[in-house]
Amino acid sequence: MPLQFERSWRNEELDALRDTAVRFIESEMQPQDEAARKRGHVGHALWRRAGELGLLCTDIPEEYGGGGGDFRHEAVIHEEMARRGLTGMSNSVHSIVAHYFLNHGTEEQKRRYLPAMARGELVGAIAMTEPGAGSDLQGIRTRAVREGDGYVIDGSKTFITNGYLAGVILVVCKTDPSQGARGTSILIVETKDREGFKVGRVLDKMGMKAQDTSELFFDGVRVPAENLLGGREGQGFFQLMSDLPYERLIIGLAAVACMEGAYEATLAYVRERKAFGQPIAEMQNTKFKLAEVATQIMVGRAFIDRCVEQIVAGTLDTATASMAKLWGSEAQGRVLDELVQLHGGYGFMNEYMVTRMYADARVQRIYGGTSEIMKEVIARAL
Ligand SMILES: Cc1cc2nc3c(=O)[nH]c(=O)nc-3n(C[C@H](O)[C@H](O)[C@H](O)COP(=O)(O)OP(=O)(O)OC[C@H]3O[C@@H](n4cnc5c(N)ncnc54)[C@H](O)[C@@H]3O)c2cc1C
Repeated sequence: MPLQFERSWRNEELDALRDTAVRFIESEMQPQDEAARKRGHVGHALWRRAGELGLLCTDIPEEYGGGGGDFRHEAVIHEEMARRGLTGMSNSVHSIVAHYFLNHGTEEQKRRYLPAMARGELVGAIAMTEPGAGSDLQGIRTRAVREGDGYVIDGSKTFITNGYLAGVILVVCKTDPSQGARGTSILIVETKDREGFKVGRVLDKMGMKAQDTSELFFDGVRVPAENLLGGREGQGFFQLMSDLPYERLIIGLAAVACMEGAYEATLAYVRERKAFGQPIAEMQNTKFKLAEVATQIMVGRAFIDRCVEQIVAGTLDTATASMAKLWGSEAQGRVLDELVQLHGGYGFMNEYMVTRMYADARVQRIYGGTSEIMKEVIARAL
């Protein structure tokens, strides 16, 4: 039985968007997923197609080329991809980048980048992490030095989602190393024909094989002064911190949708598969495991839906969003482990969705701030 759960924020318009997303995902994304996993990226054409269908930047105002919706519009798209274990097109990072422009960009920056991002012509990435600094972002070493009418960027970044396909990258740099957090700024780098900019390897990961996670190198990369996000130096940390609830809620939301898709696939599997003369589904252990999983999904959904309502109302705080990310990603790991077990040996085969989801789920506890960092943030608010 699919889980019956009345979404508190559902309405007809969102249902119609969900239908469009499902049609795109099932007819255009899913058939290409295996090839994308082998290649390590989904390619530009899929991004442009998503743009054509109005599935990108759905919560960006229409005056900047977006869909004019709110977080719920994004949520339905993230959910439908996550339910099917499709992680190749990181629409979430793309949306996060669009929000940096919307919330912190100058008027000119919004007009220059947001419409192209909504059309899927420019894929967005955000480059914070470096080989020597991840959780502790104050330790980044990439420098942006003011020279004449521009900045010169030197440094390297790693683990950057959408890094290979990105047309615009928000690069977190030190503009004044003597100032700690206040010496950090975000520079906008358009990648096309950018001298000194190089994309390194598409990294070989445990999961999320179709997602282009890359190393980036900046060797004397020049950008004009108007590419400073928001136009004022030293705002980088403030800009990063203020958008955290948005990105953490996306991770929690995707976690619950992924559990739900995996639960339904497992239910179908255990009803079909037999051992000792009966379907696996008839064994008490299977029933109990599925009962536990279904309960976790229902509980998780109630919390996530409440967070969705709060973010739409503008009241979601960072600690609560961190709880959504912490609980969602940890539950996702536990649940996927149980569901793989119910598949027996087939649960170890990559052709099965739950297997891929199990591998993909692992990073949910690491990126966007690790579980340990989430606990730090929550503890500080207690
Ligand atoms: C697939 C993937 C995609 C990613 N996408 C992006 C991206 O698009 N952009 C980007 O900038 N980054 C991205 N990242 C990087 C990601 O955000 C970092 O890997 C993450 O924040 C952890 O940083 P780190 O890897 O340097 O680990 P470290 O900071 O070295 O942490 C190692 C361990 O120490 C623990 N630890 C650290 N500090 C504390 C503390 N204060 N208390 C307790 N424990 C602590 C951590 O929790 C972890 O368990 C991505 C990573 C992956 C794997």
